[in-house]
Amino acid sequence: MTPPPGDLSKIQEILLGGTKFLLTSHARPDGDSLGSQLALGRALSQLGKDVRIVNKDQIPELYHFLPGLETIEILPETDSLVDAVVVLECSSLSRTEVSGLNSGTIVNIDHHPGNTMYGTINWVDESACACTELVFELIEGLGAELTPDIATNLYVGTLTDTGSFRYSNITARTFEICRRLAETGIDLAAIAASIYTNGSIGRLRLTGRLLDRMKLEHNNQIAVLSVDSAMLQEIGCDWDDMEGIVNLPLAARNVRVSILVRETNAGLRVSLRSKTGTNVRNAALAFGGGGHINAAGLTIENPGPKSLDTIISRIKFTISDSEE
Ligand code: 5GP
Ligand code: MN
Repeated sequence: MTPPPGDLSKIQEILLGGTKFLLTSHARPDGDSLGSQLALGRALSQLGKDVRIVNKDQIPELYHFLPGLETIEILPETDSLVDAVVVLECSSLSRTEVSGLNSGTIVNIDHHPGNTMYGTINWVDESACACTELVFELIEGLGAELTPDIATNLYVGTLTDTGSFRYSNITARTFEICRRLAETGIDLAAIAASIYTNGSIGRLRLTGRLLDRMKLEHNNQIAVLSVDSAMLQEIGCDWDDMEGIVNLPLAARNVRVSILVRETNAGLRVSLRSKTGTNVRNAALAFGGGGHINAAGLTIENPGPKSLDTIISRIKFTISDSEE
């Protein structure tokens, strides 16, 4: 394994030297944000530290099996009367959507390109397949024991952020870490089943409806799925049931980009996914969003009738560009 970077040793010093910490991550939590926070939270508690975990949004039911989930406080604002606030898996502090975090030391641990380096100390490694990869390294450096509960959380972040070990972000290191996690005796098949074969019937019906109504653009290279709350209500689903559906159109050979558009109270929420070789991050950035090269997102707060067309045009341009 590579020697720890300077920022990692500074982070270890802060965490070992202090007693009270607040951990947080982005709004609309996912497997990586939850796994990273819960694993680090458990490791710090093990070392006798006083730990709070604060998130803006409720945790999707899909992740309710994660060990320690009940310790997460759902709050839109907090005080930060702690030795350090550790922000995990956020490219900017505003992604937390939690206010009151920035009065003291901030430790920024992330793997997103374009991280704004908002921390007092920043450890940003774009080569990590998931933030849980960095948390694994940190936990090792802190000398905490890799318990099955910690391993479960780290495995979930890795499994979900790599699309079940399918994306180009996986490396030998990903598998080396997973080997170590598996050695703790966790049930890898049961974890995968909790995530991938544990959805509601409503979700299945919703998937059918969305794929049936899928629009194809640009010579079948761009797939567009659209959902609004009326459709969800009719089928008996909620927003949690949408998790991962955006990836499905990429199963078709010709589709290079999949777009999921959700009409929400906050505006038009757009999720973008692409196959290796096509970059959707730049299109997300062009509309004030962000993310990774193959998984990005954005929100149009005040959408007009042409908003979606404008985004699709930008993506067509991306595809033409990547063909050159
Ligand atoms: P999702 O489609 O699952 O909401 O988001 C996919 C990825 O895009 C996430 O990993 C997240 O990092 C990024 N992302 C989604 N929405 C935004 C956004 O509004 N701003 C930024 N900076 N990144 C986003
Ligand atoms: Mn991640």
